[in-house]
Amino acid sequence: MDQKDINIDIHSEFFTKKFKVTLTKREPINHDSYLFRFDFQNGKERLGMQAVQHIKIYGLNMNGEIVDRAYTHVYEDDGYFLIPIKIYRPNVLPQFPNGGELTPWLEKIDLNSELTIKRCIGKLLYHNNQFIVRPKANKNWSQFNTVLLICGGSGITPCYQLISAICNNPNDNTQMILLYANKSEQDIWLMKELKDLQDKHKDQLTVHYTLDKSDEKWNGLKGFVSLEMMTSIFPKATETTLGVLCGPKPMNKLVLSLYEQFGLKKENIVKF
Ligand SMILES: Cc1cc2nc3c(=O)[nH]c(=O)nc-3n(C[C@H](O)[C@H](O)[C@H](O)COP(=O)(O)OP(=O)(O)OC[C@H]3O[C@@H](n4cnc5c(N)ncnc54)[C@H](O)[C@@H]3O)c2cc1C
Repeated sequence: MDQKDINIDIHSEFFTKKFKVTLTKREPINHDSYLFRFDFQNGKERLGMQAVQHIKIYGLNMNGEIVDRAYTHVYEDDGYFLIPIKIYRPNVLPQFPNGGELTPWLEKIDLNSELTIKRCIGKLLYHNNQFIVRPKANKNWSQFNTVLLICGGSGITPCYQLISAICNNPNDNTQMILLYANKSEQDIWLMKELKDLQDKHKDQLTVHYTLDKSDEKWNGLKGFVSLEMMTSIFPKATETTLGVLCGPKPMNKLVLSLYEQFGLKKENIVKF
């Protein structure tokens, strides 16, 4: 499949049609997250999207109102796909007594429940060594030699999808440097998968972790993402450097400004 064959029409049925999938598994990953498995009803369909596209899951908030949120699958095969999801439970933090709107519902619904989902075009499209930045507004493919990725917590999923797609393309030698921030070591997702990719693509992919809270055994980076941290691990920004980010709101605000201070062109910065 060539670039010209990729569907970038957001009004096409591929992106507008809602459909049902069945929740068939919900396996704990850590203290607040699960790997969800969703099955297509005909047992063979696929999401069939390009990197870095996500789905919307529709569900109910605590008042019984319909809400939707974005999620990025990390694996798919004929008939099903897998998504890690962090649950924002009520009464964990005093400032959020109700928790999140959608994820408490996703934690409670019965296995074999049917959910409504929809495909979304996303903020960045990657195919065959080429990217479209903000495909809703722009239809031009362009190339980047280096991709910097900064994410926090569950924000790893779109970054992982992009890293996997680039690594799985033997004709693409784009350099990727990932800076993945978490509260503590137990919050890190996809560590084994990232290590496997890094081992296989040593010349292409570098992964750094930073933690808010760590013990003396931790030999990664420490503290919040900063310009100093970025300067110590990223190559100098050029015209062909793309910077992507995905994390909680306050982190996104910080990283957007840090990327600009680091020298990235505004149009080459993408928040998933
Ligand atoms: C492109 C994209 C892809 C994404 N992919 C994934 C994915 O693959 N997996 C995934 O888990 N998420 C993903 N997300 C995030 C997801 O869309 C939701 O924002 C998230 O699940 C929270 O939804 P919610 O309705 O439960 O919480 P919301 O009602 O949206 O509120 C979340 C916010 O409430 C606060 N909050 C509430 N309760 C708590 C609590 N107990 N502890 C801490 N803070 C709390 C925090 O400020 C938190 O950021 C993605 C987001 C985007 C934009």
